[in-house]
Amino acid sequence: MSTKNTSRRTFITDAAKTTAAVALSATVLPSFANIIAQKSSTSVLGIPFSQRPLPYGYKDLEVAIDATTMEIHYSKHAATYAKNLNEAVLAEKVDINSVSLETLLGKISKYSPKMRNNGGGHYNHELFWQSMTAKSPLKPEGKLLAAIEKDFGSFEAFKTQFTDAGKSRFGSGWAWLVLNSDKKLIVGSTPNQDNPLMDISELKGTPLLGLDVWEHAYYLRYMNKRPDYINNWWNVVNWEVVAQRFNG
Ligand code: MN
Repeated sequence: MSTKNTSRRTFITDAAKTTAAVALSATVLPSFANIIAQKSSTSVLGIPFSQRPLPYGYKDLEVAIDATTMEIHYSKHAATYAKNLNEAVLAEKVDINSVSLETLLGKISKYSPKMRNNGGGHYNHELFWQSMTAKSPLKPEGKLLAAIEKDFGSFEAFKTQFTDAGKSRFGSGWAWLVLNSDKKLIVGSTPNQDNPLMDISELKGTPLLGLDVWEHAYYLRYMNKRPDYINNWWNVVNWEVVAQRFNG
């Protein structure tokens, strides 16, 4: 009899959790629109931070990044950031009904190193995967191209500045194209998994394009030659997605 009662209680608890998770997902999803679309059904610990599927296959970016690197990077490194972010959110009792990931990053100094490293790690990688395509137009057009030419002099000058930002970032980090609060495009880099949304970041603004320059992103093919990785990466940039972020 006690077994029966226990299993019934378990069932009721599980059903309540499922209902709560569905309700949570419906509430949270709109605040993550465009950049971080979440699915609570595949999330860890019932909290909706999870990886979107890649918009291409592991082999499809081989002109720049080999398939093994893509697979390990997405399914191991980035997956771990999502898992650890869920743990941090749970441990620090963040009410994700009322705060988006972007908002949380904006006051990251109030949270633990685990939240900073993994909140940044999850955001940065989700942005990174969407910023690449096997069918790159190789350069932007329209309003984004005009803004780049205005703020950097030319598209080539922008590429040189961005490449230099990635090359000169000491150790692990990211290079960024950012729209700052003066609506000006700027280039810079951040250490580790920090990003320009964070209150602790020197480089601040809305990230439009980010490049992972951690060794795990390129070492199998390029070993010590980070500049070669960056030069080849220009061949897979999804300028249409970057333009959508700029126009939004
Ligand atoms: Mn990475």
